[in-house]
Amino acid sequence: MGNGMAERTRSLDFDFIVIGSGFGGSVSALRLVEKGYRVAVIEMGRRWSPSDLPNSNWAFRRWIWRPKLGLRGFFNLRFFRHVTIFHGCAVGGGSITYAGTLLVPPNKVWESGSWAGLTDWKSEMPQHYATASRMLGVVENQILGPADLLLKQAAEAIGVGHTFYRTHVAILEPREGEAPGTQVPDPFFSGEGPERSTCTACGGCMLGCRHGAKNTLDLNYLYLAEKRGAQLLAETKVVDVKPLGGIADGSDGYEVHTVNSTGWRRRPRRFTTGGVVFSASALGTMELLFKLKEKGSLPAISNQVGKRVRTNSESLIGARTPGWRDDLSRGVAIGSGVYIDEHTHIEAVRYPRGSDSMSLLSTVLTTGRPGLSRIALWLRGLLGTLLRSPIRTLRLLRPFGFAQETVILLCMQALDGHIEMRWKRPWFWPFHQRLVSRGDKIPTFIPQANEFAQKFAQLTGGTAMSMLPEILFDIPGTAHCIGGCPIADGPERGVVDSRHRVFGYRNLYICDGSVIAANLGVNPSLTITALAERAMSYIPASSCALG
Ligand SMILES: Cc1cc2nc3c(=O)[nH]c(=O)nc-3n(C[C@H](O)[C@H](O)[C@H](O)COP(=O)(O)OP(=O)(O)OC[C@H]3O[C@@H](n4cnc5c(N)ncnc54)[C@H](O)[C@@H]3O)c2cc1C
Repeated sequence: MGNGMAERTRSLDFDFIVIGSGFGGSVSALRLVEKGYRVAVIEMGRRWSPSDLPNSNWAFRRWIWRPKLGLRGFFNLRFFRHVTIFHGCAVGGGSITYAGTLLVPPNKVWESGSWAGLTDWKSEMPQHYATASRMLGVVENQILGPADLLLKQAAEAIGVGHTFYRTHVAILEPREGEAPGTQVPDPFFSGEGPERSTCTACGGCMLGCRHGAKNTLDLNYLYLAEKRGAQLLAETKVVDVKPLGGIADGSDGYEVHTVNSTGWRRRPRRFTTGGVVFSASALGTMELLFKLKEKGSLPAISNQVGKRVRTNSESLIGARTPGWRDDLSRGVAIGSGVYIDEHTHIEAVRYPRGSDSMSLLSTVLTTGRPGLSRIALWLRGLLGTLLRSPIRTLRLLRPFGFAQETVILLCMQALDGHIEMRWKRPWFWPFHQRLVSRGDKIPTFIPQANEFAQKFAQLTGGTAMSMLPEILFDIPGTAHCIGGCPIADGPERGVVDSRHRVFGYRNLYICDGSVIAANLGVNPSLTITALAERAMSYIPASSCALG
């Protein structure tokens, strides 16, 4: 570093601390270390290797993250009044639990939201999507399972067969003629990366991939960052970040306080750093910034935190066919998709054979307006089918066989709509503040999607299914929570500028899903990665001044 700031940061523990090791965090860590900075990545979740991963989603202790209850997995669920949010928590962030689908959103997403017009996104982003795709090893899926072929038939039946596409996935698939599960030397980074194994089409991507075939971040960005000197502190939660030396805007650096996230002892620690990158995911970064603003550690954070949180307008539906001739769990977790209209995108999703615990959240699909009338309709329908065909209905509702007999349909809409997160004492827990959701209800009932699920079920002679919480509580679920700290032209409209610098502070950045300012209508991780690549490209190498 060439100026006074650079001199000062030499006496600090690190030049940059990255909070969270997901898509935004891993890109930031690698690019900063490559620029010559001393980098630490602090991650609340555990480090996983293929042999530690659960072999079914009944292994709650190794699947779900709720450390206070002794569950130390990598998949977290957070319940809010408006939405249930599913997200990852591990070294490698959401990449350990994600399905590996990486899609480029349509160009129109850059024309709406608070980021519109701040730069020429349409000409700048393609190079960053290309780098992100190369680093994550994105290929067109060549493994179409029985569920994907059914999706194609259902799309043809409603006249949208031409929209069927194979997903782009971050999975190492076998080459033509190569046996599945073949061990291969690093295929991506000229031998600098780890040895890998090819996909066996077991459908287990969302349980972390026990075969090492999914290109998770700990096998690419994070692997290379650690190899080049980044220090990774796992099972460590950041609880405070405040400017050093009484310089309110952080120009003298920051102190970062952590506690142990998995054991009973808190083991508080303090680190000093020149800059901080918040990459704790949309939910994690919002939570941390609200807390730090409230307790006076970072009081100048924009009041826009928590505004315009988007859920990709999602709904999970599906079709179950007890006794169906093919094993619907075969393939990659999300192998294909279709567009049933201009705004509505549906993907075929699966869990591996024996991973039937999602059946506890699913039930027969019910139409009708949300609320008590829909619950009544659901109960009447369920009772009716139980009386008419008791054996068939019991087979439909039993957990055993769910993964092999069910195609889960993930429906996403690129329509604008958002909720707000606030930092409040909820009425049911007045002891401390926490994130609570506000705003208009998110629809749990997407009529076009429900009709499609019914059409799908007709093809196999099965039954259309939906999520129980959507019917009982009118609350949708999403694995794609984005926004809450959007990119904007000033603190009156957002939390970071177009280079991801936090308004009001020096050398403080946000690189994760929270900066996204529009509903993407497709799975967001490739966009988070590409945006982080772009943000890091503006940070000068360490011999220059910090930003
Ligand atoms: C089941 C499932 C399937 C999915 N499938 C897909 C898919 O196919 N394609 C796709 O694009 N997206 C998918 N997603 C969504 C994807 O996982 C997220 O969009 C993505 O991981 C978000 O990236 P991020 O960088 O914002 O944060 P994350 O990847 O979520 O990483 C944030 C990290 O920060 C850590 N953290 C949080 N708070 C703190 C703290 N205070 N201190 C230290 N560490 C902290 C967390 O533990 C986490 O590891 C899926 C999600 C789920 C749950």
